Amino acid sequence: MKILALSDQVVESIYSAEVRERFADVDLLLSCGDLPYSYLEYVVTMLGVPAFYVHGNHDQPEDLGRGELLTGPRGWVNLDGRTARVGAVLLAGLEGALRYKPNAPFQYSEAEMRWKVARLLPALLLNRLRYGRYLDILVTHAPPLGIHNDLDLPHRGFAVFRWLMERFRPRYLLHGHKHVYKPQTTRTRYRETLVVNVYPFAVLEL
Ligand SMILES: [Zn+2]
Repeated sequence: MKILALSDQVVESIYSAEVRERFADVDLLLSCGDLPYSYLEYVVTMLGVPAFYVHGNHDQPEDLGRGELLTGPRGWVNLDGRTARVGAVLLAGLEGALRYKPNAPFQYSEAEMRWKVARLLPALLLNRLRYGRYLDILVTHAPPLGIHNDLDLPHRGFAVFRWLMERFRPRYLLHGHKHVYKPQTTRTRYRETLVVNVYPFAVLEL
């Protein structure tokens, strides 16, 4: 299975007709957030494959005119706080970033994110019973604490994501949120998981 993952910044060559040829063999689309919904809708329309996303902290409703508000990309499934299976691949998602403003959407304290993870556990345990493993790909917006993150509050990762990797051993954790402007590590192995900073896009073959 070939996966195209997107995050944080529009890529001109993907937001163009050439995406159809360049990514003709992609089977699955994933988005780690902070992207215009119109961009995501364009890509899923061009490629016509299953697509799952989580929200980033900068996501906001887009005005379609006539008082209509778009709260997520059409043609994409919101993966936040749930699991999904595509072919043989087991997915789960957790949206948002570490809280730095009170009451802002798609921001969570560490305790709030721990609670979101707790609510995900029954579905992971069910996967284990059904398929012999908990999870293949965890899709998040924020990175794990200490991996690809910064120490300032808005860009610090979640500690509970490290616990998730230790306990449930996904093959991949895909995240965005952290823009990369100079040569930097964007793929880091943590235990049995390859942590990938998707910004602005990444291709995976499973
Ligand atoms: Zn972000």
